[in-house]
Amino acid sequence: MPSACSSDSVNDSRQPGSPRAGEAIDRWRRLLGAEGVDGPEAAQQRYGACTTGLSRRIAGALRPASRDEIVELLAIARECARPLYPISTGRNWGYGTALPVIDDCTIVDLSGLGAIRTIDADLGLFEVEPGVTQGALHQYLQTRKLPFMVPTTGAGPDASLLGNALERGYGITPTADHFAAVTRIEAVLADGRVYRPALSELGAELADHAFKWGLGPYLDGLFTQSGFGIVTSMTLALARRPEVVEAFYFAVPDAGAFEDVAMAVRGTLQDLGSVAGSVNLMNRHRVLSMTAPYDHSCVGSDGLLTDAAVADMGRRYRVDPWMGMGALYGPRDVVAAARKLVRRRLARPTRRLVFMTGGRARVLESISRRALGRSHGIPAMLSRIRSSLDILEGRPDRVAHGLLYWRRGGADLSTVTDPARAGVGLLWYAPLVPFKPDLMARYVRTCTQVLRAHSMEPLITLSTLSDRCVDSSVPLLFDPAVPGDVERAHRCYDALVEAGRELGCMPYRLHVGAMAGFTRSDQTFWDLAARVDSALDPGRILSPGRYAPVSGR
Ligand SMILES: Cc1cc2nc3c(=O)[nH]c(=O)nc-3n(C[C@H](O)[C@H](O)[C@H](O)COP(=O)(O)OP(=O)(O)OC[C@H]3O[C@@H](n4cnc5c(N)ncnc54)[C@H](O)[C@@H]3O)c2cc1C
Repeated sequence: MPSACSSDSVNDSRQPGSPRAGEAIDRWRRLLGAEGVDGPEAAQQRYGACTTGLSRRIAGALRPASRDEIVELLAIARECARPLYPISTGRNWGYGTALPVIDDCTIVDLSGLGAIRTIDADLGLFEVEPGVTQGALHQYLQTRKLPFMVPTTGAGPDASLLGNALERGYGITPTADHFAAVTRIEAVLADGRVYRPALSELGAELADHAFKWGLGPYLDGLFTQSGFGIVTSMTLALARRPEVVEAFYFAVPDAGAFEDVAMAVRGTLQDLGSVAGSVNLMNRHRVLSMTAPYDHSCVGSDGLLTDAAVADMGRRYRVDPWMGMGALYGPRDVVAAARKLVRRRLARPTRRLVFMTGGRARVLESISRRALGRSHGIPAMLSRIRSSLDILEGRPDRVAHGLLYWRRGGADLSTVTDPARAGVGLLWYAPLVPFKPDLMARYVRTCTQVLRAHSMEPLITLSTLSDRCVDSSVPLLFDPAVPGDVERAHRCYDALVEAGRELGCMPYRLHVGAMAGFTRSDQTFWDLAARVDSALDPGRILSPGRYAPVSGR
């Protein structure tokens, strides 16, 4: 199942130099104005940088400002046979950034559609357009004093909500599964018609926003991980900000206790239901990548930190072989009862189990900063805890970007906001692992071996998606400027996929270079997906190759 560092392309008539390409660009310029259209060179400059080290030939870029313009630009694309690749904010870092799956697509950048509409504040229903970022929604809620949480991710304030949900991304607020919170989608189909769910067509608009499944076949889901339409808005059922958000942190002093701890975490989630958010289990390397400088003088002959160095850093920064983090959400008395239960389940197999609210973290941070100075380790650690609490409380934060710059000596995350532009090399390997502690332990061992064999520091997180399944996120960090490093990272990704497959652990989401290897049209599933695709888009205009066999489109 190899991933492609180069890409398929469409047939000759669709190539940038073909006469119809020039005609399309002229017509799009008349529609959107010169500033709304990039030719191939400008588009390559603006959208070509990608953390995956992949490159794509980009035919151009369009920046519509309304749904009507989308309908019209699609008509031109159909008439001139120009394939399009819609993006929301194009910050799909680690999975392709803004790059199309194949060469010669024209990007449709929807970041200019940035409206947020309160459908019903009592019901917590908000409609967002593609350009709405986590940061913009946060500001919208703050300004209007609306008591809801943004479904945050580690990608931070500049990433979209809509593109993330279409990728079925997840976070660690109570609505960890971001598509689960989407109750309604509107999209423009390849033939230019506007898709709205059946309840809206029948005049029951509010019911449609309030009820995810609507009436008739559930079609909204077809627009996720596919190229079946240009999604112009979605309704999010936001989680209400509870009276108390209390995080808990714990350490696992002995790697051999991992299975016991995983079992205890599963039991905790089974007991607590929706009072507990997602729990993150992070190995020592992963936590060190966000807390301690990378010590290049401690690298062994395999290009990795030696075991002794990692153990020593762990002692100095008080990072155990595994660290855990979760959060409780609810009224004060419910959280107090839940805290007791967490203690009962987790105190024995873990150590340093502490509970912390955002308010407490802020007070401790400011006291320690005054007493010890800003650069001292303790206030710095409290500042990171406060940032992680911000994310748990639905306040977007860039703190997770820290790991990207670990081997490069760090970065000021208030000014370095775009890893693709900063030249970061990153691929996410993100397999689903059933919540069986023995399988999770085998997965961790296998993953670590494969990473080490490719000279990759093993940074492993396991995030609970439910009490039945976890997803692991493993950043493959490399330096695209070093000859051969991109290929090494992609070889490592492919080896991880193969090793994961032996265990029954497959990614929940793919980078653009990996899609062709997964979508084989001789399998009924992908054949059906390809048929739906060609029924909706016979001219193969929208997002060719996105979670689809290229030849089947
Ligand atoms: C440090 C770090 C931490 C991260 N943490 C997380 C995390 O916790 N959770 C997580 O899920 N991700 C995470 N990411 C990955 C990624 O950056 C986010 O998922 C990000 O939200 C995706 O980019 P975007 O929102 O700009 O979506 P886009 O890039 O705009 O969209 C993603 C894809 O969806 C399709 N698409 C987008 N909009 C439309 C549309 N309107 N119509 C049709 N198709 C469309 C396109 O094919 C596009 O390529 C992280 C990345 C980094 C670097």
